[in-house]
Amino acid sequence: MALIKCPECGSMVSNQAKNCIHCGYPINENNVSQLKSQINEGTVIIYGLRQTFLIGGTMKIYLDGEYYDSVKKGASLEIKITKDTQITAKCGINVMKGKYLAKVGKLQKIQIVYDRLLGTFMMQEIDTSIGNSNM
Ligand SMILES: [Zn+2]
Repeated sequence: MALIKCPECGSMVSNQAKNCIHCGYPINENNVSQLKSQINEGTVIIYGLRQTFLIGGTMKIYLDGEYYDSVKKGASLEIKITKDTQITAKCGINVMKGKYLAKVGKLQKIQIVYDRLLGTFMMQEIDTSIGNSNM
């Protein structure tokens, strides 16, 4: 048995207790959901453009349509997600964009590339099982 801090009222309560003895907050249920969110956490590392023919090349990163941050050419950006997240990379000078659906519960490394044939940006998952020593 251990004492944990009640997330509702801040009092110390037993982690075996069903409810907080001070405010009645459901402790076990809360522990379970906290545990679940830890397991379901995912990490996404986005690598910016590496193709030197592109001038500028800073990509804006959107998570489920909300602007998050930008990643410069040759740089990388680490994102923690707690649910499946649609990641979109857009270039400031035009509306071309790459999309990737990031899943929780694993590490995903995404390389943004510009496809000259298709004239669009793409987000390609890098296979993390084959070590990318140059990444
Ligand atoms: Zn409480």
